[in-house]
Amino acid sequence: MAEAKYYIEIKDKKVPVILRNYRNSKRIIISFKGNVLNISKPRYISYEKVMKVVKDNEEKIYNQYMDILSLDSKKIKHWYTGEKIQYKGQTFIIERQEYTKNQIEISIEESKKIFRVKTPKIEIEEVMKKYVDKAVKNLFENNTEYIIQERLPYWSKKMNIPYKSFKVRDTTSQYGSCKPSTKELCFSSRLIMLPNDKVDAIIVHELSHIIYKNHNKDFYNLVKTYIPNYDEINKWLKDNVENLAI
Ligand SMILES: [Zn+2]
Repeated sequence: MAEAKYYIEIKDKKVPVILRNYRNSKRIIISFKGNVLNISKPRYISYEKVMKVVKDNEEKIYNQYMDILSLDSKKIKHWYTGEKIQYKGQTFIIERQEYTKNQIEISIEESKKIFRVKTPKIEIEEVMKKYVDKAVKNLFENNTEYIIQERLPYWSKKMNIPYKSFKVRDTTSQYGSCKPSTKELCFSSRLIMLPNDKVDAIIVHELSHIIYKNHNKDFYNLVKTYIPNYDEINKWLKDNVENLAI
């Protein structure tokens, strides 16, 4: 069984495709698995003939693909062109490119809202996904650390609450945590995906735990002294936790 992977252009979209040849197959089967168009065909049928069938069904395939992309926008990424990812509170479009070098490169074009993923050509897409996941996580960890390094001292000074140190960890279960006894803070490496005002609210929340361990009235009074719309932000953070998925 031979297997080929690439994209085919359907209207304005590059749709990822896996084409498989089957010796015993009798007809062309076209169906989506995730957002990959799986095409299986009898070995004796030419590629041109398959493309003609795709062309004849262009409208249907296109509509299915658009549905899949919109459903997938907040979920796990395959790192295919057209997928969406949150960065600094804005929606970026993933653009996948083939890289001549044997490495992964991720570049974020903030002005154009393009999240570019360059990968070497590889047969097994699932393996490549894992490498890209790791590269993106590393990038997010770095960029989150940079933001926290900038914002945490500002809030610490403004609130007059000193802290000892902070860590950035790859966690999606919580935005941050605090050990009041040691004044050590921890933040999710995915905070770079959120808008700035949400990051500030998370920092203020964790700093306030150095004074008040529990989420009691005094705690919220302190938080709201600095973030008056905290209730609204907190609700947003609860509703949008799936935005942290990559
Ligand atoms: Zn808390």
